[in-house]
Amino acid sequence: MERKEMICILCPLGCKMQVHPKPGKTSELSVRGQKCGLGIDYAYDEYTNPTRTVTSTVVIHNALLPRLPVKTDKPVPRDMVFKVLEEIAGVELTGPVEIGTVIIKELLGTDSNLVATRSL
Ligand code: SF4
Repeated sequence: MERKEMICILCPLGCKMQVHPKPGKTSELSVRGQKCGLGIDYAYDEYTNPTRTVTSTVVIHNALLPRLPVKTDKPVPRDMVFKVLEEIAGVELTGPVEIGTVIIKELLGTDSNLVATRSL
């Protein structure tokens, strides 16, 4: 695995970190540049299994607004984000929809559900 530069996004300081496997120990990472221990956990997750919570909107009919805000209730693998957005793009609902309603269960075979983030 190669050396990566990344910015910790867990707080406004935005520490710039250098991350690479320790020589001879591919399962252990060397992390530099973080100002606190949270950065190490962030760097490890981002290096080994980057994930993202996806937020978007879907079409809703018979409602006050034309689009309903939605998000994944768990992060999905980062390389699936565009596939998730494609899947979401085809969704059309009819109101009313309550906040927290599951719009798509186990999105694209993941353990993440797409849920409404407001009532509409
Ligand atoms: S490493 Fe710590 S101080 Fe730096 S951005 Fe992350 S959370 Fe903030």
